[in-house]
Amino acid sequence: MVQRNSIEISSRIDKLINNGGVKLHKFFPSNREIWTVVGSLGDQIVFINNNYCTCKALYFSIMRNNFRICYHLQTVLDAKKNEKYVVTEISDYDYYGFISLLTKSIYKQFTTK
Ligand SMILES: [Zn+2]
Repeated sequence: MVQRNSIEISSRIDKLINNGGVKLHKFFPSNREIWTVVGSLGDQIVFINNNYCTCKALYFSIMRNNFRICYHLQTVLDAKKNEKYVVTEISDYDYYGFISLLTKSIYKQFTTK
């Protein structure tokens, strides 16, 4: 059962990567980088250096003191390792608009039942 689940998760991850679901947003000229992944509820921001993702699953795993890497984070790490992600270049001028839209969408995921 455990094995079947992990196969299901890895095929879900492969599918997401192959469908261009992992995006690296590069801002210029600051060189800020933001990773996002398309989740089932919407886009998630993934902070690869801190092992953090904005999804509910990771949030609750931390709140329960039972950290478990979510599939978004795993997907971004795999995509990065295999260099299979979509790079978009965005001007720093649009940074706050970008973050604002993204956080609004994430907020909605937390408030929608
Ligand atoms: Zn996540």
